[in-house]
Amino acid sequence: MKKYKVIYDREICIGAFSCSAAAPEFWIYNEDGKADFHGSTYNAQTRKWELLLDNEQDFDDNQAAAEACPVFAIKIEVIDETPEEDAEEPHDYGDYKAHVDDPEKESENKTMKLGHDEH
Ligand code: SF4
Repeated sequence: MKKYKVIYDREICIGAFSCSAAAPEFWIYNEDGKADFHGSTYNAQTRKWELLLDNEQDFDDNQAAAEACPVFAIKIEVIDETPEEDAEEPHDYGDYKAHVDDPEKESENKTMKLGHDEH
């Protein structure tokens, strides 16, 4: 299942409120003239507000808000939820370690090492 991370740069918001028209349950008027992103949390490193979505309808609503924003203050990232067993790199590394730790594979290890040293 896909997840989506909505990222809101409140600093560049100009208060046009097209976002509120597109997704009023998420984008709410604040007295300071900028939109508040309901349910989001502040990331102090990026200085942006973030909310994780796992619901297609919520994604559609926020996508509409992002497209409506005149200053592109709203961005959405798709998060790949690939199961761990499908990830190739950790699996291959495990096999390599098994060879290195196996004394019967010593000659094979030397060959690998010589090959490496020649570079
Ligand atoms: S549409 Fe963009 S600029 Fe306008 S209030 Fe919403 S986030 Fe701010």
